[in-house]
Order: sequence, then C-alpha cells, then structure tokens
Amino acid sequence: MSQPTLDVLNPATAEVIATVPAASPADVDAAVVRATAAQRPWAAAAPADRARLLRRFATVVDEHIEELAQLEVREAGHTIGNARWEAGNVRDLLDYSAGGAERLLGRQIPVAGGIDFTVLEPLGVIGVIAPWNFPMPIAAWGLAPALAAGNAVLLKPAETTPLTALRLAELALEAGLPEGLFQVLPGEGPVAGSALVEHPGIAKIVFTGSTRTGKHIMTRCAERVKRLTLELGGKSPNIVFADADVEAAAAATPMSFLDNAGQDCCARTRILVERSVYDRFLELLVPTVAAVVVGDPADERTQMGPLISAAQLDRVRGFVDGDRGADGVRAILGNSPEGPGFWYPPTVLAGVAADAPVAVDEVFGPVAVVLPFDGEEDALRLANATDYGLAGSVWSRDIGRALRVGQGLRAGNLSVNSHSSVRYSTPFGGYKQSGLGRELGPDALAAFTETKNIFISTEA
Ligand code: NAD
Repeated sequence: MSQPTLDVLNPATAEVIATVPAASPADVDAAVVRATAAQRPWAAAAPADRARLLRRFATVVDEHIEELAQLEVREAGHTIGNARWEAGNVRDLLDYSAGGAERLLGRQIPVAGGIDFTVLEPLGVIGVIAPWNFPMPIAAWGLAPALAAGNAVLLKPAETTPLTALRLAELALEAGLPEGLFQVLPGEGPVAGSALVEHPGIAKIVFTGSTRTGKHIMTRCAERVKRLTLELGGKSPNIVFADADVEAAAAATPMSFLDNAGQDCCARTRILVERSVYDRFLELLVPTVAAVVVGDPADERTQMGPLISAAQLDRVRGFVDGDRGADGVRAILGNSPEGPGFWYPPTVLAGVAADAPVAVDEVFGPVAVVLPFDGEEDALRLANATDYGLAGSVWSRDIGRALRVGQGLRAGNLSVNSHSSVRYSTPFGGYKQSGLGRELGPDALAAFTETKNIFISTEA
C-alpha cells in the first residue's frame, strides 16, 4: 500500500508548494520506541549538559531565522515581519527553558521523625499536537520546556503546516540533540494525532487547537488518566471606557483582531465601547481599518495576509454573510486582494445582537463586532458572556477601574491600555472553555514533571 501524503499549499496563491508523507499509527508506534530509548539517557544526563545542548539548538535556530521565517510565509501566509518574530520566539524559548534545566527545584518540608523533600521527575515521552495558526511558536511552547525537564517529544503539526516543524527537527539534530529525542510526525489529526493520544507509551499530551477537538482529546485522555494541557479557542473582549485615551484605543484596535488575519486565539474580536464615546470611537475606527495594508505576506509593508485555507474562508464567510445583511447592521470594511489565494477583508460589524453567533463564537478570521455598554457592571456582563476566557483588554485612564474590571474578567491574560498577551517569560492559558493548565513563564517546566515526595527516617 502506498504511503498517504499531505499537500502543503501557499495560502496566498493556493499553489501546492510541497508534499510530505503522512504518519500512520505504525509510524507513531515506531517513533515512541525511539523516543523512549532516547529519553532515558537524556533524563539521566547532567542538567548543565541538557541546558548546553538546548542553548546550542537555540543558536542554530538563530542562524536560520530568515529561512524559517520565509518557510512560515509560504506555508502559513504569515507576514514576513510576524514570521521573523515567530522564529525568534522559538530561539528565545529554547534559551529561556535551557536555564530551567538547572533550576528545577524541589522543596524540603519540615516533618516529625525525619527529613522530607520533593524531587521533580520527567514524565517520559510527550505528545505535542499543534495547530496551523502559529505553527512554530506553539510547537516550541511544548517542545522547549518538555526537553529541558528531561522528556522526549513527538510533535504532530497541523495538516496544513508541517514544513517549519520538519525543519526544526533537522536543526535539532544539527545542534547535537540525540536521535529520537525530538521527532516530527506530520499527519491527519484523527490518524496520527489520535494515535499519539491513545498510545500507552506517551505520558502527556499538550494540545493546542479548537475547543471541539480539545474536548474530544480530553475524553480520550481520561481513559488512561493521561496528563493533558489544553490551549483552546477564544473570543476576547477589548473594553474601551469613556475615560480612556479613545484615540489611542481606536488606533490600536485594528491590529488587535487583524494580526495573523484574525487567526489568533487571543484576537480581541469583541470590541465593547462605553455608550457615550461609541459614535466617536466608530468614526475614529473607520479610517484605521481602511488603512490596514492587506496583500502579499512576503512584502515588508504588508500588515495582513490571507486566511490559511479555502475551508477557513468558507467558515468566515458563513459567520458574516447572514449578519451583514441584517437590519441596523453596519459593516466597516478594509481592502483585500482579488484573485487566487484565500483572501477576506478586514471586517467590523456594528449593530449586531450581543448574542449573535458572530458576537459570541470564535470566527478565527479578520472579523470583529462593536457593542455599546453602560458602566462597569454592564461591560463585565458582556465581556464574560461567552464560553471562552483566554484574553482581554481594558482601556481606561483610571487605573483602579482598569484593575477592578480586569479582576472581574474571567480570562487568563489581561492587558491594560494595550493588547499584549504573549511573552515567553510570562504564563499563558485560558479560563473556562479556553483551556486547562498554563504554558510559558517561570513554571512551564513543572508541567512536564511529576512530583515525588521522599521521606528519610532519622529515628535511631
Ligand atoms: P484543530 O482542533 O482542528 O486542530 C488542531 C490539531 O489537532 C491539528 O494538528 C489537528 O491535526 C489535530 N487533531 C484534529 N483532530 C484530532 C483528533 N481527533 N485527535 C488528535 N488530534 C487531532 O484546530 P486548528 O483549526 O488547527 O486550530 C485553530 C484553533 O486553535 C482555534 O480554535 C484557536 O483558537 C486554537 N488556538 C488556541 C491557542 C491557545 O493557546 N489557546 C493558540 C492557537 C490556536
């Protein structure tokens, strides 16, 4: 039987740019055997040696930033500026995690009759299942801390974006990481991804993707009580109070939901504006949305590229088309290229119902809604009225109010007078149906360990 393959398309042109073999369950079995063999000596190595190798991996990634970024532009349609940041994020995370290998500290706990202490032991082989929207960074968020904590990693990239992951695996070998320690298995989610989830030799799954698939994986992991981190969808609010610098808030709004063509789990797609400045905010927003440069992602001036696929384009159209024609709905549109590729214009809908699907479900495209609110309580009621809880922004010059509202927001990542969510040195993850567990930040390695408690009697 011939090996199944995956075609990789350039989303800006819809042309096939590569075809890669798709992993079967038997390929996953063989990879687990290799990973298990590689993990034992890796876990037993001196922490300083693990750190040194990971720093060397970071250096090799750094030497290939431009190549990795160009690959990301071609397979994911990311703007070249973003793609360079993403490759740099992989380097930085490897570097940051490397330091953790020597700081994986247990505790000494006072008890009667002896000495008690804890050690953090690696889990074994970790399965990382990544989405297509940020293929490189999200792979690294699992990969880097897992390796630093003494584990092996099997990475399954999304069907549409396997190329940067495959290149990272080559660079790891070039840097001197042992064979088998980090392997990439491109393949279909229900085949290769599912085989990782079901495999008894895999101790933990780190899944980033849709809430629907995440729930399915959670039920499968429950069968084995398999460890699991979930980073899922979002529908994040951007709350603008009348006492904010409304000009600054409006100027920052377009890229808060148009970055990566809105295919960003933290996209601020629910713009909530205090009623007294609602009309003024919309006036300011129209020209800023129109000014966003949409086009060839390889062009340095481009701010927004295409959607990832024809299926994603259909999904986005499905959300917007019904609502755009509804009574009282005003659509603020930006520009978008014609021709091949999966293009959709920047779109803001004003006047939609607060509970319309486009206002509460994750669209995952360049689409936001603007809703008016009256006071703090109303702002929080609207902001929390989704199943998601990943991120949110509050704009106000009253810092007490910003913090009060921020504390009421059921979301894992808050920004005040900005839209920043992700730094490799700070924790990231969701409340409610946006996820389970945290990635990044100072505690990232601990999520790839078990705590063992040891008691030594001092009784004579
Ligand atoms: P998806 O759920 O369709 O796929 C994600 C990954 O899961 C892919 O690698 C896919 O092949 C695999 N998969 C699919 N079915 C599977 C199964 N039955 N068993 C095992 N693996 C399976 O998601 P997507 O469309 O690739 O990504 C977009 C979603 O990711 C959005 O909802 C977005 O919000 C979310 N996301 C979340 C974060 C976060 O950190 N919270 C970050 C980025 C993206």
